[in-house]
Amino acid sequence: MSVSEGNAPGAWSPDGLRFACTRCGACCIGAGAVRVSDDARRLRRGEVSLRETRAKACVFYESERGCVVYAARPRQCRTWPFWRAVVHSPERWREEAQNCPGMNRGPLHAAEAIESMAAADGSSGRLPEKRS
Ligand code: SF4
Repeated sequence: MSVSEGNAPGAWSPDGLRFACTRCGACCIGAGAVRVSDDARRLRRGEVSLRETRAKACVFYESERGCVVYAARPRQCRTWPFWRAVVHSPERWREEAQNCPGMNRGPLHAAEAIESMAAADGSSGRLPEKRS
């Protein structure tokens, strides 16, 4: 089996991958659209996405509280870091883990479950822009 951009995680990490979000907010800040619908009428650059603040943070991110819609966050946020663009190779996984402290810690997610999430990750298929 394979995700659209390469190998399924089972091919290079058959035991699965560890992840537990620390709610650090690093992924809520910085350029990169949060898509909220795959099939809604296309409004902007072919996608419907959440507004960003002037500082390029997600409009639902507050510095004191973090994500204020965490329980109902968009699919793209719920499936991170198990995006097809991230899990298709160990190199890509390691690279993204440098920006996300939740990766490689916490509970083990089975390769099959990761494959399902990656297949419907809600992302554009592109990686987030680099955060500084
Ligand atoms: S960067 Fe990773 S650990 Fe931090 S909030 Fe985002 S998903 Fe969670």
